Amino acid sequence: MAADPVSDLLPTLVDFLADADQLLCGEQGRWAAGEDLLPSPDSPLDLLLRIRTEAMHTFHALLRVTDDPMAAPAAPILVRQLLECWAHVQWIAEGQSSTLGPTATPEQRAICLELGMAHWLCKNLSASSNESQYEHSKADGEKWVKSVTAEHEQIGCACSGRDFKAVRNSFKELRDRFGMDWPLDTYIAASAASHALMPQRLAHQEGTGLSWGGPASLLDRQNWLARGFTCLINVYLYVIGTLHRPKVGEYDKLVAAAQTEVSRTNRVVVASMER
Ligand SMILES: [Zn+2]
Repeated sequence: MAADPVSDLLPTLVDFLADADQLLCGEQGRWAAGEDLLPSPDSPLDLLLRIRTEAMHTFHALLRVTDDPMAAPAAPILVRQLLECWAHVQWIAEGQSSTLGPTATPEQRAICLELGMAHWLCKNLSASSNESQYEHSKADGEKWVKSVTAEHEQIGCACSGRDFKAVRNSFKELRDRFGMDWPLDTYIAASAASHALMPQRLAHQEGTGLSWGGPASLLDRQNWLARGFTCLINVYLYVIGTLHRPKVGEYDKLVAAAQTEVSRTNRVVVASMER
């Protein structure tokens, strides 16, 4: 495929991800190796590293998808997944004024989120036929609910677990605190796309008619990549900050360098549209 400004940016972002992961997981810098590099195997904050693993894989998928104009219309669905990762880690790190008391700690909130995850897994497995799942899946899910329920009782929280629907509230709060509209707006718009409720987004004006399902525009690809990148850097920021990894300053430098490249590419793309 012929290179273009968005494809040219991809190696920089791959390098950024590898470097950020190395800061998070230590000198070994092994990809997706969080499990055996955890600060404490029993810490509720282990959940942060698992969510970061999810974000890491999703961002890799986003890079590949935005590299290919024909595959790129799937990008908003991946950006939405990254937005959810961002909302979860932000909530663990900072909480939300409308939920739990101000004294709740990140550790406590991580338990509330894990309880929600375990509940939803069991709920979904219970709604599925046995033929569609492994024999041990339900038992594993129930074991998970049992252990995390016990932890949750210990912290004396009365909630029934953070629900995935709370993600929307996280972005509302972000909007109200910082005047940042696009995370909530993108989350809502990409929801319609991921539920296949917005096929008209795949239409392009061509002359006097419409063309369906053609390649995504350069500007769209750049926008999705830039939004996904913003989600990713926030996921890493909250995970590194909450786990008190010592190299936050180095992480900031990495982000600044990568952000410069993303902004430069954006200018190149916008200029090419104006020609
Ligand atoms: Zn709770």
